[in-house]
Amino acid sequence: RAKQTGRNRFQFFTSSLQEHANTLMEMEQDLRLALEHEQLEIYYQPLVRTQSGRVTGVEALLRWHHPTLGMVSPEQFIPLAEDTGLIGPIGQWVLETACQQVSQWQQQGLKLYLSVNISGRQRDLGMDAPLLRRILMQAKLSAEQLVLEITEGMLLDNSDETIAWLQSFCDLGVHLAIDDFGTGYSALSYLKRFPIDTLKIDREFVRDLTLANEDALLVEAIISMARSLKLRLIAEGVETAEQRAVLFSLGCEFLQGYYFARPMPAEALVAWMADYRPTRLS
Ligand code: C2E
Ligand code: MG
Ligand code: MG
Ligand code: MG
Repeated sequence: RAKQTGRNRFQFFTSSLQEHANTLMEMEQDLRLALEHEQLEIYYQPLVRTQSGRVTGVEALLRWHHPTLGMVSPEQFIPLAEDTGLIGPIGQWVLETACQQVSQWQQQGLKLYLSVNISGRQRDLGMDAPLLRRILMQAKLSAEQLVLEITEGMLLDNSDETIAWLQSFCDLGVHLAIDDFGTGYSALSYLKRFPIDTLKIDREFVRDLTLANEDALLVEAIISMARSLKLRLIAEGVETAEQRAVLFSLGCEFLQGYYFARPMPAEALVAWMADYRPTRLS
């Protein structure tokens, strides 16, 4: 049976690979135009204090409204942007736009801190401390209000250049967070070597979390480690009241997830904030 279908399957495989390559090339072309055609938009997702439920900040999450494919996920186009170097101008645009937005909210009386994801590739694509300082100054946003989120993968490149690069942002007063904490392969030693002050526990640990399972033990261990290293801790992917309650009892101070709000366009966030009534845990 295998022999009979083998050849067909091979043909199917090559033609779909070919198609895949074509779409990637088309996507790359399209992504080049996305910035100038204003197809990129930043969504904002609230970050809340676990106990009070109050919103303390937002994470900027990039969206691409593709003319024919509709909304393309950043999981798809960020890797493409990294491979092609487009993450340079795109990443800069995200920083500028999100800093200006948060500064504008602040002038309207809504003070939030801003978390922005950055890619290690941006290091060789023009993102440096002078640029970041200029962006902050132009937006009139203080450096302390900005958090840069990096992944453990970036720290695998345990090079002096990467450490110096991240340190130069810290020297401006900007905070650094490890995103998707617990999913990488890094040795924890990087926590000592890099100037990090926040950990974001990946939603994988939150998904099946109840008080009595192994995930709770893992989260508890991460929390106690974060405490002794004096790191701020945020849990991602909180979707239910029960997850919130468990994370509260384990001592996690900040949360982010659909339970509170999905990422949304700037105007929608303002409307959501106006309606939002935090509930307090005790
Ligand atoms: P991330 O930084 O870990 O962002 C969190 C992701 O989890 C977001 O996916 C968010 O929409 C999603 N999420 C939030 N709460 C929940 C929840 O309760 N349940 C579930 N199932 N998901 C939740 P999104 O927006 O699709 O972004 C995916 C990833 O793309 C981000 O993961 C980040 O790594 C990357 N990304 C997004 N924007 C940028 C950007 O401007 N620059 C760079 N370099 N990467 C970005
Ligand atoms: Mg993030
Ligand atoms: Mg994450
Ligand atoms: Mg992620």
